[in-house]
Amino acid sequence: MHGEPHPALSVLQEVFGFDQFRGPQQAIIEHVSAGGDALVLMPTGGGKSLCYQIPALLRAGTAIVVSPLIALMQDQVAALVQNGVRAAYLNSSLDFQDAMAVENQLRAGELDLLYVAPERLATPRMQALLDQVPIALFAIDEAHCVSQWGHDFRPEYRQLSQLHERFPNVPRIALTATADVPTRGDIIEHLQLQNAALYNNGFDRPNIRYHIAENQGNTREALLRFIRENHDGEAGIVYCLSRRKVEETAAWLERQGLTALPYHAGLPPEQRQENQTRFLREDGVIVVATIAFGMGIDKPDVRFVAHLNLPKSIEAYYQETGRAGRDGLPADAWMAYGLQDVITLRQMQQDSSAGDQQKRIEQQKLDAMLGLCEIISCRRQALLHYFGDHLEKPCGNCDNCLTPPETWDATVAAQKALSCVFRTEQRFGVTYLVDVLLGKSNERIARFGHDRVSTFGIGTELSANEWKALYRQLIASGYLSVDMEGHGGIHLTAQAKPVLRGEQALTLRKPVKPAARRRSRGAPAAQGHGPLWEALRGHRKALADEQGVPAYVIFNDATLNELVERRPESLDALGGVTGIGARKLEDYGEGILEVIAAHKGSAQPASVGDSARESAEMVRAGLTVEEVANRRGFTVNTIYRHLAEAIEGGALTLDEVITLEPAALERIQSAIREHAAGGMRAVFDALDGQIDYNVLACVRAAMNAARSS
Ligand code: ADP
Ligand code: ZN
Repeated sequence: MHGEPHPALSVLQEVFGFDQFRGPQQAIIEHVSAGGDALVLMPTGGGKSLCYQIPALLRAGTAIVVSPLIALMQDQVAALVQNGVRAAYLNSSLDFQDAMAVENQLRAGELDLLYVAPERLATPRMQALLDQVPIALFAIDEAHCVSQWGHDFRPEYRQLSQLHERFPNVPRIALTATADVPTRGDIIEHLQLQNAALYNNGFDRPNIRYHIAENQGNTREALLRFIRENHDGEAGIVYCLSRRKVEETAAWLERQGLTALPYHAGLPPEQRQENQTRFLREDGVIVVATIAFGMGIDKPDVRFVAHLNLPKSIEAYYQETGRAGRDGLPADAWMAYGLQDVITLRQMQQDSSAGDQQKRIEQQKLDAMLGLCEIISCRRQALLHYFGDHLEKPCGNCDNCLTPPETWDATVAAQKALSCVFRTEQRFGVTYLVDVLLGKSNERIARFGHDRVSTFGIGTELSANEWKALYRQLIASGYLSVDMEGHGGIHLTAQAKPVLRGEQALTLRKPVKPAARRRSRGAPAAQGHGPLWEALRGHRKALADEQGVPAYVIFNDATLNELVERRPESLDALGGVTGIGARKLEDYGEGILEVIAAHKGSAQPASVGDSARESAEMVRAGLTVEEVANRRGFTVNTIYRHLAEAIEGGALTLDEVITLEPAALERIQSAIREHAAGGMRAVFDALDGQIDYNVLACVRAAMNAARSS
């Protein structure tokens, strides 16, 4: 923070308006800027783009960015242009004349970045063009497209191996969020990146909160309540298994007053396109879709992804939930699943025409997914473990961490449930079995004589829903299996024997009673957005419409939140807000200040204090400042600002935030007493620049708190 900033840092601050690098960004940028090759594995929302955009600005020549999706290219270029960066793209959406104009700009050295579709890069015309201009670097985005392992394989990517041969001195950086080991191997081999530095930032998406609920027969209402309480007026995706359910759910949500659009392969293409465009361009649209929706959708401010059906693998779950919160701000992955999901998916697998080997793999994947649903420990740890990643502590940001589920000794109940399957000859579905356990005679039960078996009526201690949940758990954990022929009959498996014989105890997750449901501890109530927030969002929308770009390209929600929180009143102060670089300050600064000034009289929304309190609570719960920043999608500096506010207000003590030797603390305090009149810079200098500004701010806050109490 002293002296000349590093060139990469000043680009980050001046052009992009961010104060700090995130995670490994700085190391990657320095490596590539110095001419090194890199393979970057970073989860969605981790900030991959800056890893090549900043080197592109630091190195001489034009950076060539290979990107597979036209919509992504357009958004990236639009966002760069907003920041005053000279960027353009070449793809099939341009007519001949426009393409020529871009080529001329390239030849004239007027481009810092050029985005190119992979198939175009391989053409002789493009190759000849590249021979004529200095190239800063090649960035290969979505590098997993080179691998046949993933579902995004693109043969054109294979030709990118030529880059290294034709341009041996130009650094290459390949980036992907799909980082499993076979894919990684393929990328290295096919792109000839054997000598590249590997930056692996894992799979974790700390800002996504995972929540898997039981389907208690009223999923739609539960979904609606979840949206109303947490995401009123925000964008989200709701996944369903069937087209019919997509249609019904979208229509029902619309009737409840939400904007919800259907998306599935059976709709006419124009309608699908229109719904997708509205989702991308308008604020607060919900898309209800079959899993086919979402690939290549780069909308950063999707605040929730909901599953009304069980995905068929953890891979699918991770990929679909990963479409939430690409901007790094808090987002929810919400799912409701029930017995019927398990039965349907198992039957679909049995009925599929896949070979035995394939069926076995699919079966294992589904089992792993069910395991994730039923566990009682941290979901994130389990999820990351599945991908070979490791998370030291429970995450504190999933339902199991926030509201640890209750467990119960289900041994006796499981014995009854299993035994009832046996006594009724392993031919019936769960509804029938539950009726027998509860002693409800009906025509069918009487006809089969099952009102005379020993398990008839022995289960009155549990409700029908509780028995259903137990059956679901027994199927999910492999004690029971579903009929091969598709009649839905339930069988015992070999695993059931020890339980039936009383040799094995079973501890299971207790079903949540609907009445006993309470808000997760730590889950912030939906913060009603104040009038300033709404006004700034409207202002942003108007600017976006004027230019025909999505709103988040003008400025994203992180910037919006910070504007509301800080309420800058001068251009200078506005320039300090995250995401406002020099160009945006010039283009939009006055307009934003006017909107803020117009709301000057309006009360500070309560969320200002709430936000600081929330950060303080997380620190008190044992999270580090970095973890809080990741989780909440704020910068470390913002979190320190919150903490200082909390310290000053007496909500937190200094030593809950920082540990300082008594001598060091005294030295800082006396520097503050002597020099604070000259501003914090004077204090900083008086301490020889050894103490971080954030630490100084917290100490000062503690001194103020002591004085006022
Ligand atoms: P990815 O391509 O890895 O999914 P992006 O490059 O789109 O991620 O970045 C995700 C979001 O994080 C964007 O909104 C971006 O502006 C923001 N971002 C990236 N790096 C930083 C940073 N150092 N400070 C603040 N915001 C950042
Ligand atoms: Zn957790």
